[in-house]
Amino acid sequence: MSSGGADYDVIVIGGGGAGMSAAIEAARTGARTLLVESDRKLGGSTALSGGVFYAAGTSLQRACGIEDSPDAQFRYYMNVNQHKLEAGVVHRLCEYSASTFEWLVALGVEFDAADLYVSGVDGIRRGHRARGHGAAIAAALEAAVSAAGIDVALHTRVQRLATDQGRVRGIVTADGTVTAVAVILATGGFGNNPDLLQRLYPDATRYPEANWYIGTLHALGDGLTMGEAVGAALAGHNRGLLLLTTGFTRDLEPYLPGWLVYVNRKGRRFIDETTEYSVLAEVLKEQPGAECLALFDEATRRAATQRDGANWDADRLAGFAAEGLITQAETLEGLATRAGIRSNALHNTLERYNADCAAGHDRAFLKEARHLRPVLTPPFYAAPIKPAVICWTGTGLRIDPDARVLDQDERAIPGLYAAGETTGGMFGQCYAAGGASVGNAIVFGRIAGREAARSVTNPS
Ligand SMILES: Cc1cc2nc3c(=O)[nH]c(=O)nc-3n(C[C@H](O)[C@H](O)[C@H](O)COP(=O)(O)OP(=O)(O)OC[C@H]3O[C@@H](n4cnc5c(N)ncnc54)[C@H](O)[C@@H]3O)c2cc1C
Repeated sequence: MSSGGADYDVIVIGGGGAGMSAAIEAARTGARTLLVESDRKLGGSTALSGGVFYAAGTSLQRACGIEDSPDAQFRYYMNVNQHKLEAGVVHRLCEYSASTFEWLVALGVEFDAADLYVSGVDGIRRGHRARGHGAAIAAALEAAVSAAGIDVALHTRVQRLATDQGRVRGIVTADGTVTAVAVILATGGFGNNPDLLQRLYPDATRYPEANWYIGTLHALGDGLTMGEAVGAALAGHNRGLLLLTTGFTRDLEPYLPGWLVYVNRKGRRFIDETTEYSVLAEVLKEQPGAECLALFDEATRRAATQRDGANWDADRLAGFAAEGLITQAETLEGLATRAGIRSNALHNTLERYNADCAAGHDRAFLKEARHLRPVLTPPFYAAPIKPAVICWTGTGLRIDPDARVLDQDERAIPGLYAAGETTGGMFGQCYAAGGASVGNAIVFGRIAGREAARSVTNPS
């Protein structure tokens, strides 16, 4: 390819799922490609992830007898977010999800039928969990990076973009400037940058004592900062995914025991406690104080085992109560007073819940009967629950369906592309489904890589 004297055709910043996919596709399209990664290893949050990939119309679905299509996925994404998304970008994501799944399979990532599950709130099995989780996806991508002859610079943090006459021309690191015809920002999210969280994802900073981030330490939002410095527009304010936490420990617990009874400060239940985690956090944010109390009684505590979760066996619960992390009282009135719950409402809520447990049918929120345990035997317990664990951030650079970064005037910034968690606009209030962000990273990584490489021979 002709680089017009530049050091490279394409430079990709960030070696996670988006960046490695971009580099592979750029190199396979014929571009001389450099991949720059600030960590000492490739992988980013992608390697730490559960490795769930959300897609519709895949070979694995067909093998399981599931009829599905990218159009159905698109309708779901748009409807679940009341159409407050960039439709063209979302459509491109859905259009390429299944073929990107097959691309991962061709790279050697294995997906089992038993790990194809309903990861959204739509009832269709579209969550494809990779065998070996995110680490296996990252390893397969890294092998393909190596096979494609891509130059890789590890332990190199890009500081800013080099520009000339309104066009991005390369990158600047501590070692100097490296030039390219096109640059792809794939630096992931900003979950580890308190200032950016405050500005762009205020919901994630509501509980300073309980907030923590579970992704790569290098998720500092560098792509957003670099993009904004050259005029990029942002999309998707205050978006991301928060997981629930009791604050007992820093163990990640995406699923809490189904027998917990969540009540808000008004003494009301407000959801089936086993609802998909992506929805739970959003509904919890709407409760008074954006928190709730998870209730159980002594009989349930005594019966609790490690199978209910690492922090949820009888002895650990007793320990947390002794430490004051769980409120404990001999009467429900006492529990209400100590935990700050409206007492009469709590009494009536639990009276109804206990009757439903006896009947085996949760009339209020239809929780499955196997999770119904009455709250009858003193002492009674209340554990605080907050949506405070930052999993993923969804505010980011605005892109068009070809992964070109847009500026404030709706123009594509010449020479600049972006993909993955550093972009915004395809996620709304409701995180569509488990697997949606790895899917987004790899689908748009590939698109960005191809489009950036094409721009070398066909400059805009
Ligand atoms: C524990 C956990 C579990 C998850 N599970 C799932 C799941 O199962 N399914 C799902 O869809 N989503 C999941 N997510 C979210 C998902 O993993 C991420 O959104 C997605 O992998 C992001 O991919 P990315 O390539 O955009 O970013 P990353 O994979 O984070 O890669 C970004 C890379 O850029 C590098 N970088 C940053 N700044 C610079 C710089 N200035 N110069 C050079 N390099 C830089 C970083 O070091 C990093 O390697 C999970 C997240 C976490 C934390």
